[in-house]
Amino acid sequence: MPDFSPTEYAVPLFVVAVLAEMVWARLRAPEAYEPQDTLVSLAFGLGSTVAGALLGGFAVAAFLAAYEYRLFDFGPDGNSAWWAVWWAWPVCFVLDDLKYYWVHRAGHRIRWMWAAHVNHHSSQHYNLSTALRQTWTGMFTFGFLFAVPLVLLGFHPAMIAICGGFNLIYQFWIHTEAIKRMPRWFEAVMNTPSHHRVHHATNPRYLDRNYAGVFIIWDRMFGTFEAERDDEAIRYGIIKQLGSFNLLWAVFHEWIGMIADIWRAPWRHKLSYLLREPGWSHDGSRETSDMIRARWQARTGAQDATSGMSVADRNRIAAGHEAA
Ligand SMILES: [Zn+2]
Ligand SMILES: [Zn+2]
Repeated sequence: MPDFSPTEYAVPLFVVAVLAEMVWARLRAPEAYEPQDTLVSLAFGLGSTVAGALLGGFAVAAFLAAYEYRLFDFGPDGNSAWWAVWWAWPVCFVLDDLKYYWVHRAGHRIRWMWAAHVNHHSSQHYNLSTALRQTWTGMFTFGFLFAVPLVLLGFHPAMIAICGGFNLIYQFWIHTEAIKRMPRWFEAVMNTPSHHRVHHATNPRYLDRNYAGVFIIWDRMFGTFEAERDDEAIRYGIIKQLGSFNLLWAVFHEWIGMIADIWRAPWRHKLSYLLREPGWSHDGSRETSDMIRARWQARTGAQDATSGMSVADRNRIAAGHEAA
């Protein structure tokens, strides 16, 4: 298996970009950076690289085993050369991004996978260093198995890993408040800072939206797209904020919480604490994102299902009626 990781080569770029954004923040948005928060994010980035080096071998072994059962060969001569014919690359990249959408969506809807992915969301700030906040425990979720269909199709594990690396590099630059909107055509097809700010928001309207990696089209296709609004300030982070910069707590808090819940739950509910969405509880004592959104909609009448009208529009019309 060829040992090439595009993300490693991108590290100097990451560092320069973070420093540049820090300068921007100092001038334009001093609250965008908080030193301790940035340090935790950087530690996450470093630690996830170590965890990947230690545990990634299991995924590689699983993929190489699955590759033996591939359906097609994309090699230049119809053989199995891993670098394949040129057109296999863009196809692999797009399919890998589709895979990313689903593994990411599962990461938000299955608590066992959320226990790892929550790390990426636990910062209350949104800046380029947040992009480096990558989980240490991703291997324990077996999320890598989502790539097995690609391997079985005949894409070599090395090719998928390289596509995944470029996918991650793409996602770096969208973690910023410095860019408001990209050109309209770009916002239509690609994931952007605007779309991904929505993903990191805890506002009820934005919960569990915009799972995309590179192409936002998946959210549009599968009904999880939400556009960013200019009339509502974003609150970043998670529903129950960490309230601490303790690195180990930041890494393991959701695993600990989940295991405690399983421990305490009656037998017939134990599995649900593993497999159901975050916030689910057998006695209804907590709220899932769906419940939070429903409560918010009931309270504000937001996104009127029949008229499709926004809260702001409704308020404007209501105010107009009162004036008239
Ligand atoms: Zn996420
Ligand atoms: Zn992100």
